[in-house]
Amino acid sequence: MLPEVSSLWLLRLLRDVQLAQFYRPILEELNVTRPEHFDFVKPEDLDGIGMGRPAQRRLAEALKRHRSGLKSKNWVYKILGGFAPEQKETTSPSDSPRLSLPEPEGGLKCLIPDGAVCRGELLGSGCFGVVHRGLWTLPSGQSMPVAVKSLRVGPEGPVGTELGDFLREVSIMMNLEHPHVLRLHGLVLGQPLQMVMELAPLGSLHARLTAPAPTPPLPAALLCLFLRQLAGAMGYLGARGLVHRDLATRNLLLASPRTIKVADFGLVRPLRGTRGRYVMGGPRPIPYAWCAPESLRQGAFSSASDVWMFGVTLWEMFSGGEEPWAGVPPYLILQRLEKDRARLPRPPLCPRALYAVALRCWAPHPADRPSFSHLEGLLQEAWPPEAHCVRDVTEPGALRMETGDPITVIEGRDRGKAKLRDVPPARAPRRNAPLQRAKVVSKSLESVLSLGPRPTGGGSSPPELRHARAVTRGPPGLPSRPPLASNPSQPSQPPRERPPWPRREPPASHPPGTPGPSKATVPSGGLSPDSELQRRIMEVGLSVHGVTHQECQAALRATGGDVVSAIRNLKVDQLFHLSSRSRADCRRILEHYRWDLSAASRYVLARP
Ligand code: ATP
Repeated sequence: MLPEVSSLWLLRLLRDVQLAQFYRPILEELNVTRPEHFDFVKPEDLDGIGMGRPAQRRLAEALKRHRSGLKSKNWVYKILGGFAPEQKETTSPSDSPRLSLPEPEGGLKCLIPDGAVCRGELLGSGCFGVVHRGLWTLPSGQSMPVAVKSLRVGPEGPVGTELGDFLREVSIMMNLEHPHVLRLHGLVLGQPLQMVMELAPLGSLHARLTAPAPTPPLPAALLCLFLRQLAGAMGYLGARGLVHRDLATRNLLLASPRTIKVADFGLVRPLRGTRGRYVMGGPRPIPYAWCAPESLRQGAFSSASDVWMFGVTLWEMFSGGEEPWAGVPPYLILQRLEKDRARLPRPPLCPRALYAVALRCWAPHPADRPSFSHLEGLLQEAWPPEAHCVRDVTEPGALRMETGDPITVIEGRDRGKAKLRDVPPARAPRRNAPLQRAKVVSKSLESVLSLGPRPTGGGSSPPELRHARAVTRGPPGLPSRPPLASNPSQPSQPPRERPPWPRREPPASHPPGTPGPSKATVPSGGLSPDSELQRRIMEVGLSVHGVTHQECQAALRATGGDVVSAIRNLKVDQLFHLSSRSRADCRRILEHYRWDLSAASRYVLARP
C-alpha cells in the first residue's frame, strides 16, 4: 500500500469533479498512484469499479486539465503519450472518453491488479529489471502461466532512464500482435511496476544453442524454420514503422520446441522521416558486434540495419551461439567491417546457400540489403535438403548412425547424391559422445559490451573483460572460435592474428566522409573518439551496461581518470541500487565475483 501523501493529487482531482467516492477503488483496485497510470486504464476498468460513462467523461476532462499543467515537464507522459505510432492517428483525448492506449487487434492488454499475479522462480535479469515465472489469475478465476518483468528500483525509486525505457517497452509491446512476437498481457501498476508477458517456457534460443551435452544440437532444418519465423516477425515490426536494434539469439525466446518469439523491446524505436531511419541522440550502449556499419558510424538504425543484425543472428545460430567478433574490441569492429571489408566467416555447420543469404544481409550499403519479405523467399530457396540414413553405419572411423536418423545436407545440392561422408559429424546424433560442444562464454549484452580495450588506469583489466576474450576451445572435431574472414568471397581464410592482449589498440581511423577528430560531434556509436577522455568515457560506458555518458564522465572525474576504478565504482552503484545492501557489502560481493556484475546481481537477488 502506498503512502497516502503520494496520492493526494488523485483525491484533489476527483474532488474537483465530484468523484471523490472513487478515490479508494481507483487507488486500491486499479492501482493508480500517478497521473500517467491512467494511460493504462480502460473504460472497462472504470466500469468495473462502478463508475458510469458520464462520470468517466468528467474524469477524462479533469485529467486533461491536470495534464496540461504537467505535460511540459512530465517525461513519462511524453514517452507513453507520444511514442506508440498508432496512438497519434487513432485517439484524441478530446473526442473520446477512453483513457487507455488504443486497443490492439487481438485482445486483452490491460491493467492487472497486483494481487492477481503471483511471482515464482527467477528466470533472468536484464539491464532494468528482473524476470520471474508467474501465475496470473484471470477475472474468470482461471490461472495462466506468465513471465513477470519487474522494474528494478533503488531506495529512492526507479532511476529515470530505466523507468523511461521500461515504459517505452510497455508502450511498444502493447501495440504488437504477431505469432512470433512475444505478447504483453498487461501491466501491474504496483511497486515495482511489472510487465506481465507471455511465458516462453524453454528460455532463450541462445541458452539453448549453448546448452552443454547431453542436450542435442538443434537440427539445421529447425534453425531454418526459426529464421523464417524471425524474418516474418521482423517484417511485421518494420511494417509498423519500428526498428528493433537488438536482434540477437539472446533476445529470441523459445515458446515451444519449434516456435521462437522476438522479445526485448527495450531498444525498439519508431522509424522517422522519408528515409525511415532512427538516429541516436547521444552515446548509449548498443550491441556493437551485431550492428551495421552505419549504426556504428552514425548511430543510424533502419529496417536495413535490422536486416544486418538478422545476418549476425543467423551466424550465431549456426555457430552454436558463438560470440560474433569475439576478441575484437568494439571500437575496432567498424574498421574491420569497412576498411578491411571483413565479414564473419561461414560457420562450418552453416549451409553455403544460407551463408550467401547472410552475406547479402551484410551488404555495405543499406539499400543493397534484402528486405525482410524478400528474405523470407531467399530463406525458402536456401533451405537445406533433408534426408534420412538408409542403413546403420558401424564402420570404424565413421560416425555411428542408425537407419532413419535424420541428415541435413550442408554441402552438395542433389538429395539423391548426398553421401553419408558428406554429412558433417557434428550434425549427427549426439549419442556418440566425443562430439560435444563446449559451453561458450557468457553472451549477455553486458559481456558483449564488456569487450572494451584494456583500461588505462595502470591496474589489471577487470576479470570479466579477460573472461569475455577467452577463446573457448572445443574438443577435437568441433569448430573452435572461428577466424575472421577478410573478404566475403574467401570466407575460410586462416585466422587473423588477434591484437596481442593486453596491448592497447589505436582508435579506429575515420572512414571517408565521416566526422574526423577535429569535428566536435562524436558519432553515437562513439567509434571515432576525438580525445583520450572521450575514449575513456566510452570504455567505461561499454563495460557497465546501462550507464549514461554523464555518469561515466562523473565516475572518471571522481577517480582522476582511472578507468578501472570508475568501472568498479559504477558497478558498486548498480548493485547497491539493485539490492538493499550497503555499498561496502556490494563491493565485497563484486570482488568475490571478480567484478562480474551479472553474477553478483544474481547473488543479491536470490538473497534479498
Ligand atoms: P536487457 O533488457 O538488458 O537487454 P535481457 O534481454 O537479458 O537484457 P530481460 O528482457 O529483462 O533482459 O530478460 C532477462 C532474461 O529473462 C532473459 O535473458 C530471458 O532468459 C528471461 N526471460 C525474459 N522474458 C521471458 C519470457 N517471457 N519467458 C521466459 N523467459 C524470459
